[in-house]
Amino acid sequence: MAKLHCLCGFIIYDIQDEDSLGWKGSVASFSSRHHAFEVLLINAGAYIRSVESKTRPQWMGQHYEPNLIPITNHEDVLGDIFSTYLEDTRIAYECEACGRIWLPSPTGSGYYPFRPEEPDTTPRGFFQPWNPTKPTDESP
Ligand SMILES: [Zn+2]
Repeated sequence: MAKLHCLCGFIIYDIQDEDSLGWKGSVASFSSRHHAFEVLLINAGAYIRSVESKTRPQWMGQHYEPNLIPITNHEDVLGDIFSTYLEDTRIAYECEACGRIWLPSPTGSGYYPFRPEEPDTTPRGFFQPWNPTKPTDESP
């Protein structure tokens, strides 16, 4: 989606692959999150065991194209594994002008608006980071 016309007249813009927009969030069912978390743990565990048992080259051969193996480090592998956790989430938006939350249709086509009961007093920023602490490059 490049832009969504809110019922109030405001236009909500999205930037492809930009996840730090304060009006852009994601939604997923709890059961979907639980399943994705189990898959994440299984895959991360398998990768860690391959490193511990020095069978990482075989594990990598099963999961990556040969040309990518030499340039794929631990962070890349874990990033790929963890990204599966996000696969079943859907993008949602908040109108900065009126506070409507736009949730994706269950069928995947279009969005449905939900407006706060008291739009003038309901705070904005539902999709702002809850913990804005930035990660560091320092190893523990
Ligand atoms: Zn609006």
